[in-house]
Amino acid sequence: MLKSINHIGIAVKNLDASIETFRKIFSFNEIHRETVESQKVEIASFKVGDLLIELTAATEETSPISKFIEKRGEGIHHIAFETDDVSEELERLSGKGIQLINKSATDGAHDMQIAFLHPKSTFGVLIELCQKKYDYKL
Ligand code: ZN
Repeated sequence: MLKSINHIGIAVKNLDASIETFRKIFSFNEIHRETVESQKVEIASFKVGDLLIELTAATEETSPISKFIEKRGEGIHHIAFETDDVSEELERLSGKGIQLINKSATDGAHDMQIAFLHPKSTFGVLIELCQKKYDYKL
């Protein structure tokens, strides 16, 4: 079962420049930065109320984020929904004919297990499933 929105991912070219701009808008103090090797990205996340926003920049040309920005420009990249069991959800959804990008869970930021559904089968919305290992602060 998908329980709630965990975060919204925004694709950016320059992480520092985007942090500066979003800090002006949301006045956050704390920020969490992390490189996610499996996705070839560096992320910076901050909270707005209970919602986590994840700014995401490519670390390599072959990163999915580079390809996304090339095709569609910077902007909202994905919405991540929390579940207790990514593998179970992948099985459930593929059984219902939803196309998957990741056939099994992979490592994401905050030590979460994540997987993406294919936007071709979700009306252009890139949906991430994520499963927490522990409650992180940011
Ligand atoms: Zn994400």
